[in-house]
Amino acid sequence: MLLELINIKKIFADRTGGQVKAVDGVTLSIQAGESCAIVGESGCGKTTLARIAMGLVRADAGEILFEDRPVWGDRERERYFRLNVRMVFQDPFASLDPRYSVRKILDEALHLEGKLSPGDRHEKMMSVLKAVSLPANILSRYPHEFSGGERQRIAIARSLMTDPRLLILDEAVSSLDVLVQKEVLDCLAALQQSKSLTYLFITHNLKAARRITHKIAVMQSGKIIEITGI
Ligand code: ADP
Ligand code: MG
Repeated sequence: MLLELINIKKIFADRTGGQVKAVDGVTLSIQAGESCAIVGESGCGKTTLARIAMGLVRADAGEILFEDRPVWGDRERERYFRLNVRMVFQDPFASLDPRYSVRKILDEALHLEGKLSPGDRHEKMMSVLKAVSLPANILSRYPHEFSGGERQRIAIARSLMTDPRLLILDEAVSSLDVLVQKEVLDCLAALQQSKSLTYLFITHNLKAARRITHKIAVMQSGKIIEITGI
């Protein structure tokens, strides 16, 4: 298996001191090449699960395996995981630093890569921009100069800089209007083929999920209640 989430749990305290079981015992496996969607209403725990899978939030219980081995606790494994599992967030306005040029945004994604020559870095930038159908001459421009759809392509390009195996996309097209959504989904579908990427595609939009995933896990109140399309 590429990624396995095993009995993941996360409880938050709510404002009244009660408990919210944001993720309540989720087990899910994703094979390489078999993209999976998690769909469910707002508040059902999707983002918490994605952030746990990425190591951005610590689970209260459960285990995460990448390529059949535990992810956390060993520095070299963690580095390997961070290079190979990348995340694309919902809001391309918040996720791109407005002070950074596109060149710097893309270059920063390589900070875990170790030594790469300036030529190699530039070549990688050219190749990821081409992959998301953006022109090479945007490298010196800044996020505010782009539309929402273009920004999301830049965020996707950034996620591709380390040649990952898995992309976790959390509502990555949800803030875009319908036509732009279609363009970005088409772009993701093409990348899936050309780069042998696997997606964990998180959304409240079942139709969007069906376009690019094979398997759909339905989440409700912190649990996966149904998996279809296996
Ligand atoms: P979704 O992404 O499906 O909308 P979330 O994972 O964002 O769901 O939230 C799941 C539940 O956990 C919600 O009830 C939310 O209010 C709660 N929650 C999420 N993050 C926190 C937090 N940092 N502190 C307290 N409660 C949280
Ligand atoms: Mg969410």
